[in-house]
Amino acid sequence: MTNYVPVLICGGGPVGLATSLELAHHGVRSVIVEPRSEVSWLRPRAKTTSARTMELFRRWGLADTIRDRAGLPVDWSDQAVFATALLGREITRFDKCFGLELGGSDRAAEPGQQIPQPAVEQVLRAAVATSEYAGLRTGRSLHSFVERTDGIDAQIIDGDGSLTRITCDFLVGADGAHSTVREAIGARYDGSADERPNFNIVFRAPDLADRVPHGPAVHYWIVRPDRPGVMGRLDLRDTWWCIAQGVDQKAGEADPRALVHALVGEAIDAEIIATDPWKAKMLLADRYCTERVFLAGDAAHLNPPWGGHGFNTGVGDAINLGWKLAAVVAGWAPRSLLASYESERRPIAARTIDEAATNMATLPSQLADQRLVDDQFDTIRPDIAEQIQRTKDGEFHSLGLVLDYTYDGSPVVAAGSGGRLTHRWLSPGESLYDRLGHGFTLVGDLTDPRVTEFAAAATAASVPLELLSHPIELSLVRPDQHVAWVAGAPGTAAQALRRAIGHTN
Ligand SMILES: Cc1cc2nc3c(=O)[nH]c(=O)nc-3n(C[C@H](O)[C@H](O)[C@H](O)COP(=O)(O)OP(=O)(O)OC[C@H]3O[C@@H](n4cnc5c(N)ncnc54)[C@H](O)[C@@H]3O)c2cc1C
Repeated sequence: MTNYVPVLICGGGPVGLATSLELAHHGVRSVIVEPRSEVSWLRPRAKTTSARTMELFRRWGLADTIRDRAGLPVDWSDQAVFATALLGREITRFDKCFGLELGGSDRAAEPGQQIPQPAVEQVLRAAVATSEYAGLRTGRSLHSFVERTDGIDAQIIDGDGSLTRITCDFLVGADGAHSTVREAIGARYDGSADERPNFNIVFRAPDLADRVPHGPAVHYWIVRPDRPGVMGRLDLRDTWWCIAQGVDQKAGEADPRALVHALVGEAIDAEIIATDPWKAKMLLADRYCTERVFLAGDAAHLNPPWGGHGFNTGVGDAINLGWKLAAVVAGWAPRSLLASYESERRPIAARTIDEAATNMATLPSQLADQRLVDDQFDTIRPDIAEQIQRTKDGEFHSLGLVLDYTYDGSPVVAAGSGGRLTHRWLSPGESLYDRLGHGFTLVGDLTDPRVTEFAAAATAASVPLELLSHPIELSLVRPDQHVAWVAGAPGTAAQALRRAIGHTN
């Protein structure tokens, strides 16, 4: 049996699911193939959903559902505490971490949210399941594919080993770090790995939270020489996560409870639920695409998890690629628009890898000083606290990276444009973003004579364009809320629109 779908997505992790939802947002059909029938509850890797990712989820109407499913309400805490043990002495703390404090702020339409990755995936899977355009086929993997000038022939392997053929116009490889698609297109990961091992543990400890002397915090960094690590709550019941730093799989699996006891600072009653060894990597694919095949998320880039950027960067890829593929499939943009995906997203991944590597330069093991756990705590604490404040601030306060990245210099944005349209509240709870169309939106003073020129150019090229009156400089806003052109940039309206949809002349 042969099936046809415009876009086939290999991998139903957060990035594959997000790509499918972005295509559905524009009314374009896709199918995801994914071997896992269930999300991996025992590997709650990402916990930080950034303010920007939450804005993008809001765009699909999913932000409130994400918050409902989160184990930690957003106003529960925005703190990160550094201490000698979970039940030990506090060294210093940061507040307003990860954009969690941004509720109602003019900086973003949504604050960040702490939520385990499987809970996010569950929400995205449910949204795919109810979409008339998206389909998730679990228990299946991409086996191989052939790319021809007129399309792609893919072989899908089912759980019983049988092969099904799917033909498609475009293939998205959102199949993670060990991507089959990346290998098949001959792209290469460049970069390095941090050889220090890390060992994640999820455990249940009733009554532990009531004993923590530091109050609510989304991260507790344990700065002690004999057991450095980071820990936090997964929910407001009794489930916790921790990262034991410098511990390999063999040592971790030998006695995970002892690691928990050392981080907590006491031999508490802890039930180990799961373990997950990992190493940090700084890898970037040397290219993101061929004519019809595109890499997104971890398949294209890997960064150390410090700062919480990996999946958020992947969701950014999904939106950028999703609207462009939708425009090409719908026929209102030329194929050349797709080349801008790599030129816009690869530099963002490179910057994210650099920032995450900087965050990794100072971890609990580097901050730990034997004197903190000896009787010289009061003497040494100010120095260590100052060092922590100096070296770790960027990890908890990274809104410049999260909200202010720009596609300035991209071939499809006018000079001086490319940034995210500035969010504004129009009335309590209503963001300017909520009024944007699914396609392009021209925002500004609608009496400006260029408005009719843009409208005429959009009609002539069948580009979906909405007009929104708002007191800012006239701006052409893309489907992903980035500004493609702003008044003052050279050229006519028709030229600006042609460029924004990928025409190169
Ligand atoms: C300890 C740790 C903490 C982290 N914390 C954060 C954080 O706080 N914030 C953050 O943003 N990120 C964080 N990350 C990173 C985050 O987990 C990843 O960036 C994210 O999972 C990437 O999503 P993805 O969809 O690209 O890939 P994946 O989640 O790896 O999904 C890829 C999918 O492809 C499927 N697949 C593989 N091969 C095939 C095939 N041949 N055919 C079909 N499907 C296939 C797999 O089953 C999988 O479901 C963390 C990572 C680690 C290790």
